[in-house]
Amino acid sequence: MQDLISVLARLSRADAESHRLRDRCQVIPKEIEKHEAELRRIQSQLDDFADRLEEAQRERRALERDSEQARARRREVEMQQFRVKNQAEYQALTKEIEEMRRRAGDFDEKALAILADEEAVQAEIQRLTDLAAQEEKRGAEVKERLLAELEDTKKLRDAAERRREEMVEQLDLKTRTRYERILKSKGDFAVVTLEGGACGGCYYQLPPQRVAEVRRGTGLVICEGCGRMIVPEDV
Ligand SMILES: [Zn+2]
Repeated sequence: MQDLISVLARLSRADAESHRLRDRCQVIPKEIEKHEAELRRIQSQLDDFADRLEEAQRERRALERDSEQARARRREVEMQQFRVKNQAEYQALTKEIEEMRRRAGDFDEKALAILADEEAVQAEIQRLTDLAAQEEKRGAEVKERLLAELEDTKKLRDAAERRREEMVEQLDLKTRTRYERILKSKGDFAVVTLEGGACGGCYYQLPPQRVAEVRRGTGLVICEGCGRMIVPEDV
């Protein structure tokens, strides 16, 4: 029984190690994705601002054209005014000149307001472009580092899995079948060490009698909380 407990104890450490490594292998791609998502978010903000800028420029150019037309019409009417014969016609043209002057002024004012917006949008585009460049550089560095870590972690994980398999093979058929069944139902590890009177897997507090049983190492104790095999902390 002591031999079995000792194999199980080593198995518990290998189990925990391979579980940690498997976990890390799953987390790393998510960390990489997080950086890529951040860059995409900035890029999409940039696209929005570029659309806004284009829209503002289009609107401003239309206003500038309208303003130019109003001024051209005013000059035309001013020329006509030299040729009119009567007072009523002269006054009507004066009124139109005023109207065209007012319109051109309105258009200019609106165009200027849009120009101010454009400048703010352009400043924001500049800020986001710098941010995107920074994030891209940082993201590429982090990605390189994480991919190297992933590569190493996969190798360690495979080695840990192999070590674990070797230990599993040392178990007698009955214990091994039990081990495999627990592992399958848990998905992570099947053997845990006792931790201050509690199960090291689910932290279920064991009754004193069961704790003593684990420490004596006379039989295989199964956690009532999670169903894993419990081995003493010091084997
Ligand atoms: Zn447990």
